[in-house]
Amino acid sequence: MNTERLAIEGGKPVRTDPLPYGRQSITDEDVAAVADALRSDWLTTGPRVASFEKSFARVTGAPHAIAVSSGTAALHVALHAAGVRAGDEVVVPPMTFAASANAALYLGARPVFADVDVDTLCVDPGAVRDAVTPRTRAIIGVDYAGQPCDWDFLRDVASGIPTVDDAAHSLGGSYRGRPVGSLADISTFSFHPVKTITTGEGGMVTTADDRAAERSRVFRNHGITTDHRQRSQSGAFFYEMVELGNNYRLSDIHAALGRSQLARLPAFVATRRAIAAAYDEAFQKLETVRPVRVRADVVHAYHIYPLRLELDRLKADRQNVFQAIRAEGIGVNVHYVPVHLHPYYRRELRTGPGLCPRAEAAYEALVTLPVFARMTPRDVDDVIAAVTKVLRHYAR
Ligand SMILES: *Cc1c(COP(=O)(O)O)cnc(C)c1O
Repeated sequence: MNTERLAIEGGKPVRTDPLPYGRQSITDEDVAAVADALRSDWLTTGPRVASFEKSFARVTGAPHAIAVSSGTAALHVALHAAGVRAGDEVVVPPMTFAASANAALYLGARPVFADVDVDTLCVDPGAVRDAVTPRTRAIIGVDYAGQPCDWDFLRDVASGIPTVDDAAHSLGGSYRGRPVGSLADISTFSFHPVKTITTGEGGMVTTADDRAAERSRVFRNHGITTDHRQRSQSGAFFYEMVELGNNYRLSDIHAALGRSQLARLPAFVATRRAIAAAYDEAFQKLETVRPVRVRADVVHAYHIYPLRLELDRLKADRQNVFQAIRAEGIGVNVHYVPVHLHPYYRRELRTGPGLCPRAEAAYEALVTLPVFARMTPRDVDDVIAAVTKVLRHYAR
């Protein structure tokens, strides 16, 4: 057994400058694109938003793309466009960021948790089938870590109930040759700085459904049928508010960055996949980890790289391993605390441990390793060295 002294026990850390788990990649072209937007006539939703939407629709193979102010806004818009109303139920996996389930609550609907597949940690279509009731108005799948869900199976189970892909992790990925963004009835994206492309804050909704697209556009703009730009072009003042919407618009400043970033999407995804491949190869030698399975019919976009510990083969729990890797200078993280275990959900929806045992067990064993476009080969080597050092040390 390797007895190299861990940094957490006073040994020398693998690196002294801490490596974050995710971080944006901004070029001079990105900066110039934003500066151009600032010097233009349009600051809020204008021609750069329209152009970003058009490019995004092309990349995702979706006829419609609607830019919004965050991934959370995109989820709210998507469920509204799917027809979710107060009293409805929305099926959602717990292995996700709280925003996926919160979107149902914004509309007065109830999130119903369906457990994940034990190997992929994407929602289990069988559990979705069990969760569906006559009140189910939408089914959300989360492409966990960047791996698209088994969407053909999910849509089959949904049999007509609208499906929503929370694709915050999977932009640039594909399933059975079809790009993410055209796998469910409606898909949502986030452009937070840790995601594959960024606008600072921002999001997108994609759909092939004309009506859902129209409802999305109206809902992001207060429920008003025309926007400021359309009115200024037509010279008319008149507008009508037909529904209760929000101001979820993306600005042209943000869209300028998004459009510029989108041009590098293939390179971003290729880099993420190469980093993941290096991790896969290094960790298959370790008996103390069990990989999250990647199905053969997907292109995984690797927003994150979750490492699953084999806890019975370790003398330490996840918390010890997490802290020991952090002490080595590697910014590990955990994705996710299952949503149904958050205090708000326990209090307001009476959820708690036992509701989704597979997600709960996975959570206890997960550590997220850094993956981002600007990682250098030395950064990747450091992650591998730190994980190997810590897991060898704690191996039974
Ligand atoms: C990041 C993320 C969101 C929320 O996106 P924001 O842009 O931060 O609002 C929603 N769902 C998942 C799975 C995410 O990872």
